[in-house]
Amino acid sequence: MKFNIIALAVPLFIFFILLEFLIARKKKLDYFNLHNSIANISIGIAERLMDVFVAGLFYYVYEYLQQRFALFTIRANVLTWILLLVCTDFVWYWYHRLAHEWNIFWAVHVVHHQSEDFNYTVSARITVLQAFVRTGFWCILPIIGFPAGMITSILIVHGLYPFFIHTRVIGKLGFLEYILVTPSHHRVHHASNEKYLDKNYGDVLIIWDKLFGTFQVEEEEPQYGLTKPLKSFSFLWQHFHFFIELWIAVKKEKGFFNKIRLLFKKPDVIDPGNREIAEEIFYIKHSEATVDKPLNKYVVWQMISITVLLFLFMGFDHYVSAFYQVIITGVIIITLVNCGAIMEQKKWIFYLEFGRLLLVALGCSIIYPNPWLLVTVVTIATLVIGYFYSIENKYLQWVYPTRNNT
Ligand SMILES: [Zn+2]
Ligand SMILES: [Zn+2]
Repeated sequence: MKFNIIALAVPLFIFFILLEFLIARKKKLDYFNLHNSIANISIGIAERLMDVFVAGLFYYVYEYLQQRFALFTIRANVLTWILLLVCTDFVWYWYHRLAHEWNIFWAVHVVHHQSEDFNYTVSARITVLQAFVRTGFWCILPIIGFPAGMITSILIVHGLYPFFIHTRVIGKLGFLEYILVTPSHHRVHHASNEKYLDKNYGDVLIIWDKLFGTFQVEEEEPQYGLTKPLKSFSFLWQHFHFFIELWIAVKKEKGFFNKIRLLFKKPDVIDPGNREIAEEIFYIKHSEATVDKPLNKYVVWQMISITVLLFLFMGFDHYVSAFYQVIITGVIIITLVNCGAIMEQKKWIFYLEFGRLLLVALGCSIIYPNPWLLVTVVTIATLVIGYFYSIENKYLQWVYPTRNNT
């Protein structure tokens, strides 16, 4: 049986997150907030899940470009591997810098910066949309002449490194601070303190920031997150809020070329008040109510279950038919939206739960095409529809016992 070793990234990440959590707890450092961590990991799960579908596509894009447009013939040897690493890091610097300086790219990258905590779970806050933007930049590598196999291998290394710099438990690293991007440098990058804004874009080497004038050493304790915090755990809102804010800004702008130009201007030209307009359009209300302990457990167990499901899916995706890939993806995405909505105390999660159950039942009925199973599923579904409102009320009382659900 062929196992995709990329899936091992899941237990590896979990191991380091737990290690960091235990170290922080032992030192009595308040670095982890449960809901922030769940929000961060949720985004990471969605990205890894989507990666199963798009990673192959990216490989073929690199291969196509290299075979058609390569400027040089490059073969793998020690020197070309080092050259590729340096080129990749240079391209990353500019990708990352423009992701902060152009609204159109910031709309995608903003998700990585929403967390007000800073720990290993933040490294998971990458969206699949970001992978598409980044791949656009990586396309320069096959055009130079690097083969697709070399590029995808170096991107794995280059993608793993930043995981280790998202931590507060590692201080400054002596002489390494002069060469590599360290946790201290990246803490500055995630800070919203005025002097730390738009600094330290590097991924592996810190030399690019020093060369292009964006370097800042860590001095006072950083304040993490956006200059205007999002205050939302909603899976969908975290992904799309800035697209809506940008769309509102584009609509306000007069003249076609000014509208286009706005997409390539810095995010600070966008009126922060657009956030409130966007929240009004999409009925986004921030619930201040704390989530009850049993409900937190319900969310944690859902996260554990889909992490295991994701690991198995990533490891054995070759053996899963397209139909079941769609079912598994649906169940995982609904669960992520559900967990975010529970933390926000939304009432509509009942519909999601119902939809998820139907999806699971559909999957089971097709794996085991037993008429009794089908009859049971249809009967339960009919009963739920028949007594929809009373079941919904009972469900809401169960998930939100301390709030008024009327
Ligand atoms: Zn960034
Ligand atoms: Zn980061």
